[in-house]
Amino acid sequence: TSAQIGVTGLAVMGRNLARNFARNGYTVALHNRTVARTHDLVKEFGHEGDFVATEAAKDFVAALERPRRLMIMVKAGGPTDAVIQEFAPLLEPGDMIIDGGNAHFADTRRREKELREHGIHFVGTGISGGEEGALHGPSIMPGGSTESYDSLGPMLEKISAKAKDGAPCVTHVGADGAGHFVKMVHNGIEYADMQLIGEAYQLLRDVAGYSPAQIAEIFRTWNTGRLDSYLIEITAEVLSHADAATGKPFVDVVQDQAEQKGTGRWTVQIALDLGVPVSGIAEAVFARSLSGHHALRQASRGLAGPKPAPLAEAEARAFADRVEQALYASKIVSYTQGFHEIAVGSDEYDWNIDLGKIASIWRGGCIIRAAFLDRIRAAYDARPDLPSLLSDEAFAQEIAEAQDDWRDVLVAATRQGVPAPGFSAALAYYDALRADRLPAALTQGQRDFFGAHTYRRTDREGSFHTLWGGDRTEVEA
Ligand code: NDP
Repeated sequence: TSAQIGVTGLAVMGRNLARNFARNGYTVALHNRTVARTHDLVKEFGHEGDFVATEAAKDFVAALERPRRLMIMVKAGGPTDAVIQEFAPLLEPGDMIIDGGNAHFADTRRREKELREHGIHFVGTGISGGEEGALHGPSIMPGGSTESYDSLGPMLEKISAKAKDGAPCVTHVGADGAGHFVKMVHNGIEYADMQLIGEAYQLLRDVAGYSPAQIAEIFRTWNTGRLDSYLIEITAEVLSHADAATGKPFVDVVQDQAEQKGTGRWTVQIALDLGVPVSGIAEAVFARSLSGHHALRQASRGLAGPKPAPLAEAEARAFADRVEQALYASKIVSYTQGFHEIAVGSDEYDWNIDLGKIASIWRGGCIIRAAFLDRIRAAYDARPDLPSLLSDEAFAQEIAEAQDDWRDVLVAATRQGVPAPGFSAALAYYDALRADRLPAALTQGQRDFFGAHTYRRTDREGSFHTLWGGDRTEVEA
């Protein structure tokens, strides 16, 4: 029998994707550098479907029907290049290599170009949903050629998550690295969402005076409304969990140093290169790195600042409602920034990405899945050329209603000395965008003063320079 798809790299992700394909009726060829993993998979899950276990690279390739579909699920970076170098010489024009790892989109562009010269389709594919998603249905973001999607799309649609309306959470994102680019921004938004939720938690704890268990209940209530999402749901689970060894809230026995694997950082690095202000995502990345500076935090412990005093019950309740408004408004802003980055990346690399489609395929399977994404999809469907999510009338209206509470929450956070960099960056972005005048005019004046960098005027065309060191007359530059 020849297999419709082959998976090489059978750690948690590859193994579960292979099972997902098999459970959906596809014959799946298996390969892994360490052959024991291949045989273990068949031993444990062989009954779930049709697997073809192989050991040698040439046998793996020979097991695939043509054009071949070969999926790589190995560690991103060097290992992915090594595996490509191993298999590409064994393939023929028209064959497809699907890289489902968390590759940097620039690597994907390079690999796609190299393989295209040999007639091989390289399909860099973002996959979100972790181990469980891989098995039961992830959100899938494939890039690469249209031709490869014609062949792969139906299979990916089958194994993907389905949104509430039944739509598969996969779409052809765009050429070459588009899929990995969008996956990267997905992860950046995920960082921002997690940071905002963390700030809401800390405010409810320190300003309102609630316990983790009480905050879990508040999150459960929020999860029945417009904040309905996977991340809010699991937050309530984590907060209500008690440590078995000590009986204390789990969240109080975990070291408060957040780690990161790099996709959030890439989102910010690329945004800097593209000139896109993703301040909310940046604050989320910085908050994680700040938390990890143990010695610096130790050395700063005694610095002056207010000690939060918990609110009385009725006030605490009202404050929690305001935090919900602040969280929701800040969330709109971080998605606005993330989608802006996708739009600019799409222009830069000619990907022609359909932003509404991206919102649509994030509705199920992935970590940021949320009811909210349906709203974003609707906003782009109604106006595909929407310059910003904030220009959508419905979102603008919601922020208009939330903004007083949002500001109040930040006043309380500032007064009580509770850091809320995500809420605060989001509000600053909002206020900067709606401002009539920005101090950027002064910045241009300073630049012209010290570096003759010139400026443009509000009332006339052209570039100008003031002779600051001389008689301060203005000259046309
Ligand atoms: P790992 O990232 O831990 O990678 C382990 C796999 O890579 C093993 O199969 C290993 O083979 C193989 N491998 C490593 N180096 C080489 C090499 N030089 N040559 C050949 N094979 C090699 O596995 P995961 O399943 O966690 O992730 C797979 C990919 O999916 C990664 O790119 C990851 O970033 C991405 N991803 C992971 C998610 C997750 O939740 N874990 C979510 C979404 C994407 P061996 O058994 O021989 O050591």
